Amino acid sequence: MADLPNNAKYVIVGGGAVGCGVAYSLAKAGEKDIVLLEREPTVAAVTSSQAAGLVGQVRSTVDRVQLAMWSVKTFSALQEDQEANPAWRQVGSLRLALNDQRVAEFEKLKSVADEAGLGVQFIDNATAKKKWPLLNFDAVKAALWCPTDGYLQPYDLTMAYVTHARRLGVAFCPSTNVEEILVEDGQVQGVATDRGTIESPIVINAAGANAYHVAKSVGIELPIIPVRHSFFVTVHSDGLHPDMPVVRIPDIRLYLRPETNALLAGGWEPKSLALDVNTYEIDSPTPPLEDDWDVLGEFGADLSPYVPKLDELGVRGVFKGWPTFAPDGRFMIGESCRVKGFVMAGGCNAHGVSGSAGIGRHVVESILEETPSEYVRSLSPDRFTETTWDWETATEQAREIYSNYYAIGH
Ligand SMILES: Cc1cc2nc3c(=O)[nH]c(=O)nc-3n(C[C@H](O)[C@H](O)[C@H](O)COP(=O)(O)OP(=O)(O)OC[C@H]3O[C@@H](n4cnc5c(N)ncnc54)[C@H](O)[C@@H]3O)c2cc1C
Repeated sequence: MADLPNNAKYVIVGGGAVGCGVAYSLAKAGEKDIVLLEREPTVAAVTSSQAAGLVGQVRSTVDRVQLAMWSVKTFSALQEDQEANPAWRQVGSLRLALNDQRVAEFEKLKSVADEAGLGVQFIDNATAKKKWPLLNFDAVKAALWCPTDGYLQPYDLTMAYVTHARRLGVAFCPSTNVEEILVEDGQVQGVATDRGTIESPIVINAAGANAYHVAKSVGIELPIIPVRHSFFVTVHSDGLHPDMPVVRIPDIRLYLRPETNALLAGGWEPKSLALDVNTYEIDSPTPPLEDDWDVLGEFGADLSPYVPKLDELGVRGVFKGWPTFAPDGRFMIGESCRVKGFVMAGGCNAHGVSGSAGIGRHVVESILEETPSEYVRSLSPDRFTETTWDWETATEQAREIYSNYYAIGH
């Protein structure tokens, strides 16, 4: 186990994709004296290792598209390293519309992508079917193709960040549980852990489903709400191979991709389940999560008209976790004006793996730039004050955002 230093310029709490992405981004920007603390014996042990690894750049605002484009650029650069890469497969993505309203939404998404400089195009069903012969395209009214999208392996991505950040001098301390953030006169002083105290003027909160508790430790209540998400992977099947694109069918709230020669399928359950953050503490993990076969069965039933072969395929694994949502569906990035040195990197809204490089970049911008961009400032945790939100409404909003993840115009 790495020795715990007595002090550091930056302490990052949480070794998921986001914390490790932030560590890598800070080190890459030339910053030194960075320590990352992770409660589990290894990084990516909690939500990040459960993710499907989809990387989608087609989003509803130019800033958000460009954040995702930065992530893709980073993944492609990391992929060049033979020893430590994210297993990034730039296989493209297909977004399928089943009704006219959705087609109109795709047209809007395309114009946002055009403005952001992201290449996307409509392709006809015959061309799309060549990319995914197992899919039934009879009901498909439009197919939007993004050739630079793809998928990666979340654990590999996190380990790639760790390896590259270590080479740049970042210290990683697993099996270290942060119990309290130390604050004096409105300025962060350091962290208290089960292995001792580290003095530090800057603490970055990348604690995933514990991010609420970490913020509360400095006296700030932030609406960071864990909402359950899951997907299944089938047994191997003929007709599937790893270079097939990611597919999203928003009208049935589902996504799919090849996982080697098997099918990975997940979705956004209409009656989402939020976790009450008051049922666990800063230094304890989220309560255990069971497989919900009613929900997974519905995913299968909704998907089978489009992938008729699905009915023949057994399920070999279920992945699940508690990604966190902000009630406005946006990332929470940057220093709080209420506690100097307390920086947020969270509220990932179920795209924290794909967003991790872009989030890292924006955390760096928020800390190092004298005048961060308007977009970065708009992601500040300061948008949530005690008078602007309450738990009941925020939880309902987070659940809504989850369930309507693929809502028209989202
Ligand atoms: C089933 C599923 C599928 C998903 N699919 C995708 C996808 O395809 N694409 C995508 O981009 N995203 C996806 N996501 C979302 C993605 O997994 C999350 O947004 C992302 O993992 C969040 O990363 P994180 O680093 O913030 O959180 P985590 O990975 O949970 O990391 C937080 C870390 O903080 C540590 N920690 C907490 N408290 C403390 C403490 N007190 N002291 C020390 N350490 C602490 C935890 O142990 C944990 O390791 C999916 C999520 C799920 C559950």
